[in-house]
Amino acid sequence: MKEFDLKDVVITSPFWQDYLHLIKEKTIPYQLQVLKDEIAVDVQAERKDDSLPAGKSHAIENFKIAAGLTTGEHFGWFFQDSDVYKWIESVGVILQSQPDAKLEAKADEVIAIIEQAQEDDGYLDTYFQLKFPKLKYRQLYFSHELYCAGHLIEAAIAYDKATGKDKLLQVAKRFVSNIAEHFGYGDNQIQGADGHQEIELALVKLYDYTKDESYLRLAQFFIDVRGKNPDFYREEVAANLADGLSDDNPTIDLEYLQAYTQPKHQKHAVGHAVRMLYMATGMAKLVARDFDAELYQACLDIWNDIVHRKMYVTGGVGSTVHGEAFVGPYDLPNDTMYCEACASIALLYFAYELFQISPKAEYIDVMERVLYNGILSGASADGKHFFYVNPLEVDVDSCHHNPGKGHVKTQRPDWLGCACCPPNFARTIGSIGRYIYLESGNELFINLYIASQLKGNDFVLEQKTDFPFGNKVEITYSGVQKTLYLQEPYWAKDLVVTCENAIVLQREGRRIKVYLEDGAHIVLHFGQPVLAVHSNPEVRADIGKVAIQKGPFIYCAQAVDNPNLKYYRLDSKLVNQAHAVKETKDFGVYTSLTLPCQKVDAWQEKTLYQFDYEETSRLSDLVMMPYYLWGNQGETDMQVWFPEVRRNVP
Ligand SMILES: [Zn+2]
Repeated sequence: MKEFDLKDVVITSPFWQDYLHLIKEKTIPYQLQVLKDEIAVDVQAERKDDSLPAGKSHAIENFKIAAGLTTGEHFGWFFQDSDVYKWIESVGVILQSQPDAKLEAKADEVIAIIEQAQEDDGYLDTYFQLKFPKLKYRQLYFSHELYCAGHLIEAAIAYDKATGKDKLLQVAKRFVSNIAEHFGYGDNQIQGADGHQEIELALVKLYDYTKDESYLRLAQFFIDVRGKNPDFYREEVAANLADGLSDDNPTIDLEYLQAYTQPKHQKHAVGHAVRMLYMATGMAKLVARDFDAELYQACLDIWNDIVHRKMYVTGGVGSTVHGEAFVGPYDLPNDTMYCEACASIALLYFAYELFQISPKAEYIDVMERVLYNGILSGASADGKHFFYVNPLEVDVDSCHHNPGKGHVKTQRPDWLGCACCPPNFARTIGSIGRYIYLESGNELFINLYIASQLKGNDFVLEQKTDFPFGNKVEITYSGVQKTLYLQEPYWAKDLVVTCENAIVLQREGRRIKVYLEDGAHIVLHFGQPVLAVHSNPEVRADIGKVAIQKGPFIYCAQAVDNPNLKYYRLDSKLVNQAHAVKETKDFGVYTSLTLPCQKVDAWQEKTLYQFDYEETSRLSDLVMMPYYLWGNQGETDMQVWFPEVRRNVP
């Protein structure tokens, strides 16, 4: 399938225009100031651990030191370079649709520093250049050198596409040449992959952009070599010890690294969630370009394991802080989970790639779920504060006092010592136009209902809708005859399709196939009821609980609107009595819901337990808002899943 260039997709949706404006005018300038250490911000460690970098970013300073423009020591995570690359990619995707000479000049300045930091042989990684030059490509279990290279490639493509300036692309190609020289199945080449996947998907993008097949082959090599020799990382450590290059002698967790077997033999989502999903995205990209049945089956097995057993209702993934990882099936605690913003973003990528191999409703469902919930929650309404961890339940007092929740921030920090998520948010939301449409020959796909205008080679299409709020999508089309595929959202009610100069050819499940002629006009009407969501009884954390959804949004309630939040009990039979109001607040435009509920009475007894207790409660209202907006009104308890009112069984 073919993606459309961002310049050919003009977003007209006020909801998404606001986001694009926020990213261009607030987030991108702010992030540059942070990366340059120009402003004093509270840079917090992503979890409670005094050994983690915090206090400042230093990311651009590291490049300046490596370039010889200044002196000093490397500071920050060994993958800090990727923060800068993702920032440039954010600028690239924004400039593709909104040219801005001033912003471009700022990015050019940063790119010039990066170019000067690159070594003559193409190698580029400030951590190893400045701290451990003898260990280049020799500590792959943690080094992130190729992870950073992957982000460099993605940034370089986005920037070249936006500006026609290929300086960074040349830097990226030189680095890839250096990598290709060192890695491969040849004699004296390294037969292993980076501990953190990313280079795989990036190399496929570079192949798409340049049509140079060697990049596709290198991507295939990295997917193939992973786990082929499960002792690879241990042998690497032993060699460094033997050669006196490093005292590091870590325990290698092969599941964490998804290197316990080759990816084509993997059937489950295990280990570090972002690594897992970047790898799966790379695998799916390879399958789409050079079909491999074994690799495709692995993609499907991993997908099914995630969406049927390991995904939160918000689209968040990664149930534990330990290794930022997937755990066993149905183990989805709401208050100690990880749900890293990057993992949600990676799930969007994986779903989008799988859809391009086989356009099924389930992929769009997950894209929409994760986008409107687990991804949007990553940033504050001011575009300058960011969540790394995205909890579904926050008890402020417990987060402050329970070390087991040391990673669960009660408010979005200014910045994070490990700042993978903030620029990932900017580049992903900044390229939202990419996910709306796809084309394959004479077939056109509308994946997301986002008001926009699309210009193709032989047609123009306009999508008018006030979705995610409204119940109507209007599509006008002029151009050559085509087949259009649409989807009934999984939460929609009573969908009605009316057509002019177009015919509904088929409705298979929720997929709708429409024949389009010049002048076609299609209108979709669907209800957006308030829905009670129950989880599979295998999910222990949600037993006897209900969550609320309206349209694509999962709802939450905050203590700021509902004091003593833990005392509220919802009746799923009464959700149709919810009162919906469109709110315009300084932190967003949204539909609030007020639901009839029971609020249990506090105990008169001060004891922790009692016998023969009869719970008493009174009728109350629970005020809810879309989950992604929580945390914009100060520190307050928050909850997505609510206990259901007790029913008397006759
Ligand atoms: Zn992250």
